Amino acid sequence: MSTTRYRCNDCGNVTRFDVLSTRRTRAFHHYTIGGDLEIEEEELLGERVEQVTCRWCNASGDKVEVVSEADGARDDRLHDQPR
Ligand SMILES: [Zn+2]
Repeated sequence: MSTTRYRCNDCGNVTRFDVLSTRRTRAFHHYTIGGDLEIEEEELLGERVEQVTCRWCNASGDKVEVVSEADGARDDRLHDQPR
């Protein structure tokens, strides 16, 4: 699993963000006879990040950028995430 990371260009924060996103998932809902639900095998079909806000300085939009874990220079995942 790859992890999306962010960086705030205003204050340099790379660790604290509020991420607002929409997810499509498929999951196996496993009920007991008594009606208790256990969700199993949840699969992420798609995720669209709507907004990322810096927890330190409250910057959002263009000020918060997606960075790759490797070096931040190249990130193919950017193309998978319309914003
Ligand atoms: Zn910030």
